[in-house]
Amino acid sequence: MSPVAENRPSLAENLRAVRARIDDAARAAGRDPAEVRLLAVSKTWSADDVRALAALGQRHFAENRVQELAGKAAALAEDPAVPELHWHLVGQLQRNKVTPVARLGATVHSVDRASLVTALARAAEREQRVLDVYVQVDLGGPEGELGSRGGAAPADVPGLADAIAGAPELRLRGLMAVAPRGAEPAPAFQRLAGLATRLRADHPDATDTSAGMSGDLEAAVTAGATVVRVGTALFGTRPLTSGAEQ
Ligand SMILES: *Cc1c(COP(=O)(O)O)cnc(C)c1O
Repeated sequence: MSPVAENRPSLAENLRAVRARIDDAARAAGRDPAEVRLLAVSKTWSADDVRALAALGQRHFAENRVQELAGKAAALAEDPAVPELHWHLVGQLQRNKVTPVARLGATVHSVDRASLVTALARAAEREQRVLDVYVQVDLGGPEGELGSRGGAAPADVPGLADAIAGAPELRLRGLMAVAPRGAEPAPAFQRLAGLATRLRADHPDATDTSAGMSGDLEAAVTAGATVVRVGTALFGTRPLTSGAEQ
C-alpha cells in the first residue's frame, strides 16, 4: 500500500465494501458485476483523498462543481506518481463553464437542456475533444412532481438525445438520474430503466445508465445501472460547507 493510502486505512476497506455491494446486487439480479462501473464522487474531499483512492486502483472520479473539478484534476495531473484519471461532472453545468470541462475531456452526466448541448459541442470542438455525455432525467419527487433533483422532464429526453446525436463532438452514453428524496428508489429506477429502453430504440449505442448513490446503489443495479456514483460510502460523511447542495 502506498504511503498516502496508509494515511486513510479505512479507504481500502470502504472501497472493498462498496465493490462487494455492487457485485452482490449484480449477481442477485443475474447480471455480470463487470458491467457496473464505480464512480468515486470526491466532491468536498481533497486532492490527497483522491490520490489515496487512486493508489488503490480507482480511476474514475466525479465532482459536482466545475471549479473543484478543474482544481483537483490539475493538481493530480501534475503529480507523476498518480496514474491517469478520468473525470466526470455530475452537478449542474452552466453554459459559461463548459470550457474547463471540455479541456479535461470530462464525462458530463448532467445534460438537461438544448442550450447546454450546443455550448458543450462548441467547447469540445475548440478543445478538439469528443465528450461522453448523459442526459439527466428528472424522475420526480415522492408525489411524482418534477423539479426537485434536477434533470430534463422525461418528455424532453428524446429531443435532447437527438440533439446530442447530431453533434459529432458529443457521444451519447445514456441516461443519468438521482432517485427522489423521501420515496422508495426502486420504482423510480424502474421508470428510468423504461426510459432507457425507449432511448435505445432510437440510439442503440446509448447503453449506459448512471444511477445509484451510497444509499440506493443496490436498487439502481437491480434496475440495470451500469455506472453507480458513490461518495459517502467511500470517503465518509462529507464535511459541512456552506452554499450549494452537496
Ligand atoms: C454527491 C452526489 C453523489 C454521491 O452521493 P453519496 O450519497 O455521497 O454517495 C452521487 N450523485 C450526485 C449527482 C451527487 O451530487
